Amino acid sequence: MKEIAYAAPRTVADAVAALKQANGNGKAFAGGTDILVQLREGTRNADVLVDLKKIPEMTEIRQLPSGDWQIGAATPCHRIESTVPFAEGYPGIIDGVHIIGGWQIKGRASLGGNLCTSSPAADSIPALIAHHAVVKIVGPDGSREVPVSEFCTGPGKNVLKPAELVASFVIPAMLPNSSGCYLRFIPRSEMDIAVVGCGTTLTVEKDTIKQARIALGAVAPKPVLAEEAAAWLIGKPATIESFEKAGEIARKAATPISDMRGPAEYRTHLVGVLVKRSLMTSLRRLRGERVDVLHDKLV
Ligand SMILES: Cc1cc2nc3c(=O)[nH]c(=O)nc-3n(C[C@H](O)[C@H](O)[C@H](O)COP(=O)(O)OP(=O)(O)OC[C@H]3O[C@@H](n4cnc5c(N)ncnc54)[C@H](O)[C@@H]3O)c2cc1C
Repeated sequence: MKEIAYAAPRTVADAVAALKQANGNGKAFAGGTDILVQLREGTRNADVLVDLKKIPEMTEIRQLPSGDWQIGAATPCHRIESTVPFAEGYPGIIDGVHIIGGWQIKGRASLGGNLCTSSPAADSIPALIAHHAVVKIVGPDGSREVPVSEFCTGPGKNVLKPAELVASFVIPAMLPNSSGCYLRFIPRSEMDIAVVGCGTTLTVEKDTIKQARIALGAVAPKPVLAEEAAAWLIGKPATIESFEKAGEIARKAATPISDMRGPAEYRTHLVGVLVKRSLMTSLRRLRGERVDVLHDKLV
């Protein structure tokens, strides 16, 4: 690997300035679990790495007065899942964060890095979309907010312009009687890339579905919303039959490819299965059950 300069700014503004100064040859560096591999393999190139982990604003998790949560983009996954009040309120986001590698990877890998790598199979993204998460982007021309659902534009591609950074995520406060879930299918029990991923949120009052959101990973060039299926659920009884039907409708949102992980037809079939199970788990959780999706026997 060639020699690469290292910058460790203390503010977001200085990080943006360092990237701007690198004139297209700088890369943000959070945990390094993707970028270091890519630089070694030669699939990415950089003259300067701009470390984001020394910027306090980018590594803090806090609840805002509105009840929303703000998570710095460079916050490592293990810290997100160990922040108890957040983890208890957002089990669906924790499902996704928890399976990003083993403990060593999670000690470094950040939510912002997972999003900015923009893999269609990234495990944190579907649940963030299901929770209406928004990112704050800061760059040479100021700041802007983009919903996570609109951030990725294709495999490895996103809306970031040169020298722009994702500074933080804002995750809206949970509505009463609501919860979420993320499930992925992989051919073995852990440490693999999702064949299909599914994040859901559900709001139920008196056994009737009031709100639902379904986001799918690994079945299109970028994570996608299954909007028709979610809209169909509104006003329906919160039952396994409703979730099964939503799963069938959600299959229409999937446009998967066939690759070594499975043929397109298999992936489309799995969408129905995961949507049903993820909605069922969201329902059990909003009713107060603690469901560990890695070890529970799901319906
Ligand atoms: C052994 C192993 C297992 C893994 N398992 C999984 C898994 O199960 N599921 C999964 O989804 N991923 C997995 N990954 C991939 C990886 O760990 C995640 O994508 C991780 O979240 C990336 O975060 P990072 O902080 O390490 O990003 P980095 O490697 O630091 O950066 C990744 C990319 O994002 C850019 N970037 C980082 N932060 C920002 C920011 N704030 N603003 C703008 N650009 C930014 C960087 O320039 C780079 O292009 C695995 C990786 C390894 C090595």
